[in-house]
Amino acid sequence: MPPAPLPPAAPDSPGDWSDGTIAAALQEASPPALIAALVMLTGDPGIMRPEFLPSPLALREDSAGLDPEAIIELRELAFDLLRRLREGSLQPVPPLSRGQLARTMSFCAGEELSDDYVEMMLAEIHGGGTDDYGIAWRNRPSPSVLDGFRVLIIGAGMSGLCAAIRLDEAGIPYTIVEKNNAVAGTWFENSYPGCRVDVQNHFYSYSFEPNHEWPEFYSRRPELKAYFERCAQKYGVEERIRFSTEVEQAVYDETRAVWKVDLRTNDGSETIEVNAVISAVGQLNRPKIPDIPGLETFAGPVFHSARWQHEHDLTGKRVAVIGTGASAMQFAPELARDVDRLVIFQRSPQWAAPNPDYGRLVGDGMQWLLRNVPGYASWYRFLLFWRTADGLHASLQSDPEWPHPERSMNARNDMQRGILSQHIERELEGRPDLLEKAMPHYPPMGKRMLIDNGWFKMLRRDNVELVTIPVREVEPHAVVTETGQRHEVDAIVFGTGFQSHRFLWPMRIVGNGGAVLSEVWGEDPRAYLGITVPRFPNFFCLYGPNTNLGHGGSIIFHTECQVRYTLRCLRELLESAHTSMECRRDVHDTYNRLVDDAHGRMIWTHPGMATWYRNEQGRVTTNSPWRLVDYWKMTREPDPLDYDIT
Ligand code: NAP
Repeated sequence: MPPAPLPPAAPDSPGDWSDGTIAAALQEASPPALIAALVMLTGDPGIMRPEFLPSPLALREDSAGLDPEAIIELRELAFDLLRRLREGSLQPVPPLSRGQLARTMSFCAGEELSDDYVEMMLAEIHGGGTDDYGIAWRNRPSPSVLDGFRVLIIGAGMSGLCAAIRLDEAGIPYTIVEKNNAVAGTWFENSYPGCRVDVQNHFYSYSFEPNHEWPEFYSRRPELKAYFERCAQKYGVEERIRFSTEVEQAVYDETRAVWKVDLRTNDGSETIEVNAVISAVGQLNRPKIPDIPGLETFAGPVFHSARWQHEHDLTGKRVAVIGTGASAMQFAPELARDVDRLVIFQRSPQWAAPNPDYGRLVGDGMQWLLRNVPGYASWYRFLLFWRTADGLHASLQSDPEWPHPERSMNARNDMQRGILSQHIERELEGRPDLLEKAMPHYPPMGKRMLIDNGWFKMLRRDNVELVTIPVREVEPHAVVTETGQRHEVDAIVFGTGFQSHRFLWPMRIVGNGGAVLSEVWGEDPRAYLGITVPRFPNFFCLYGPNTNLGHGGSIIFHTECQVRYTLRCLRELLESAHTSMECRRDVHDTYNRLVDDAHGRMIWTHPGMATWYRNEQGRVTTNSPWRLVDYWKMTREPDPLDYDIT
């Protein structure tokens, strides 16, 4: 890695650097991110004083577990250093060495981290994320070679836009087709009340496009949609998108090494030819509505959360909600405020954690720090990376010595269970009837861990009823349970999730020898690194099998890893004038064995709950078992030996 640029010796941003602004901003600083940024700014490891060491269990808290006096001291120290930065009297220092970086990372996390993270953080912190996720040409092909190569990206959501931006940067021509008439994918399609991201935004954003102006720590759908729209415009992607265009079929022509792709547009159909296809269609966008007898006879509106029918005003109506997952967690509390009556049909209870940052505005001070203090934004992102993803990974592993495997995976997971149970007990105090229904029995994080959006408080409302008896049928004006109880309602809203095992459905993808991807996969999709599949050369999946993040972390991070890998595969072709690369069967199978072995020791194969992470046979097909840092490494450089390249 080339020597990294130094942080600016003095601020040159037009922001207000008055004493008052600095002091006010520091009131909102995250201590671990601030300490790490100051170490980087000064090169002085002495700043990592014992009294400033965060508590790993308190990283979510504003104090990060520091004593109030230590926080005051830290702010004073930071105030002094930032004033010196303003005045240009801080001496420029060389970038942190590997050892210093490792120590700073561990200090920031409040616990000893393995050296695994150093390489990644060198790239993230010093490279600003930018260079490291690109194609990194070694021998850039001539313009005529690049011009002769065509890539099709399917989907203009978060992943498709990311791929397009990187292809554009690499100078590789591409087209995007998008079935909707707008960008932003999931943030376009989901418009239900209360829709917002449940991963903190300063991590849920592209590494190359940090947004220091996120209005909330967990922003709402309009801000997310606007962010992706802005990216599409800023990077010139929008003009390359063919909206309202769906891929019906893609067939690989082995003799010419091209994909022939049949498109359906508003004006009819068309076939195009490309050298490579990048599928960026997501995992969670084909709604799943259960086949309930009599549903078609219902007299009122019936719709799925991802296809919200805003023309129906539900104010003052009696509404049934079926499903209690991540989407219902967000829209049901909103509905409960407006409707006359809300009947919630729950198949399984969900763990939901309280989170003080959820619904909280990002203060001006925090935004100032992110914008102005060198390194602060990167370290804050690292903190989220650790706190919401890799720092939780150990709690997902089964401990063979653990005496309570039915309720938790290990001591750490059990401690989480204790904290979450107490939260539910507090929220439902005095309501043993609700407590019995709402308290999960499986280990926390066995299903998607939710953030409590006022769910338990909502259950206590007079106009809300929680029904745990399965639905038997629907009548024109009622939902009827298996015990024959009729719940009269005016509308039914399904929050029943998506057809997550039917990856890439309903597209028909035909590879070498006429292999049809949907048949090869059935309900058991597999890919090498979640990206490439034997018999489907020059075909790359983003957010493919076993790449979902079940416990936390940002799926954008994962996408950037996949896009980098895909581009570097294309680089292998373009630099060597080869035309096709196909994942080797043995490499693919070995990788999937490793995935299954890892899952065998992890929470999502726990028998205590049903989850969409597993298929009917019990295999985990959606989730990644890896730490993010592992996946970052695995996808950094493709190994040409993993492919048959012709
Ligand atoms: P989901 O998590 O799959 O939840 C579906 C719910 O419907 C579950 O409660 C499920 O019960 C229930 N259900 C499914 N089929 C049913 C049936 N036949 N009868 C009765 N109940 C049934 O779906 P989702 O809430 O739409 O979320 C899907 C994923 O999208 C999430 O896990 C998350 O990854 C993502 N998401 C993210 C956000 C965000 O970032 N803000 C928001 C929403 C969704 P069981 O639990 O018993 O299966």
